Amino acid sequence: ATPTALLTGTGRGAQLGILIRGPQVLEDTRTVDTIVLDKTGTVTTGTMAVDDVVVQGEGSTATLLRLAGAVEAQSEHPIAQAIARHAAGTGRLPDAQGFSSAPGGGVRGTVDGSTVTAGRASWLEQNGIRPSAAQARAFGAAEDAGTTAVWVAVDDVVAGFVTLSDTVKDGSATAIGRLRDLGLRPVLLTGDNRAVALQVAAAVGIDPADVHAGVTPEGKVDVVRGLQAGGATVAMAGDGVNDAAALAQADLGIAMGSGTDVAIEAADLTVMGNSLEQVAQAIELSRRTLGTIK
Ligand code: ADP
Ligand code: MG
Repeated sequence: ATPTALLTGTGRGAQLGILIRGPQVLEDTRTVDTIVLDKTGTVTTGTMAVDDVVVQGEGSTATLLRLAGAVEAQSEHPIAQAIARHAAGTGRLPDAQGFSSAPGGGVRGTVDGSTVTAGRASWLEQNGIRPSAAQARAFGAAEDAGTTAVWVAVDDVVAGFVTLSDTVKDGSATAIGRLRDLGLRPVLLTGDNRAVALQVAAAVGIDPADVHAGVTPEGKVDVVRGLQAGGATVAMAGDGVNDAAALAQADLGIAMGSGTDVAIEAADLTVMGNSLEQVAQAIELSRRTLGTIK
């Protein structure tokens, strides 16, 4: 394509709310044949809702929720925002001190003199916390039922877990169909559990064999790299801190406009409307600009 055509394409993208980092990006987009989609916040709304608070140790549901909510209030993860919002609805949250977090893992901080840890099993383990077999069974059953479950420990002892659910965005299924029509193979990638990932995949028409669940942020990079090693040219769409490295590794990184700054910085293009329909539109735009489709 001529530089003029590329610039026109970039300008057209801007009109559509597709921000393209540079004209060259359109050139790179042309050959993409695989689209890796982050689940939470990309295929789904990312506005999660707390379904249940399960107490497994001492203390009440209210205490567990208040402590977890106070620490999660320091994190911008969709899970964190849902727990903090839910907890704040039941009363004012204390401030958490000494906050730390691991993207794709969980959070930790001190609330009212207690150390509170919330997150996935591997994050608990990193902090020397191990659920009993019975606790793990109950947690596993909640996951198998298709909810996102998050452990909560107080003073390094498991206190229980919170279950949450998310909603597939209107338009995700249609957009994934359009991406298929453009010749792209959709792949679902998530740090969340397999049962939830399979439910979402079924709702949007992604093959169960193309679902990667329970993946860490580094694991996301490995999945993209693996597809590339197999000969694929990979686009990746994501929104989280946990997606940034994979977005950078992909041949074409696409960020949701509502996503975190790190994701937007790592991406080649950003869709301001946060929809997969715009992702399909971006691919169509590049092909049209490059004369691959009319
Ligand atoms: P996704 O790929 O679905 O966007 P992440 O990689 O961000 O998910 O997170 C993977 C898992 O790590 C979550 O399902 C959750 O178990 C845990 N996790 C991440 N951040 C938090 C948090 N702030 N609080 C609790 N758990 C978290
Ligand atoms: Mg996400």
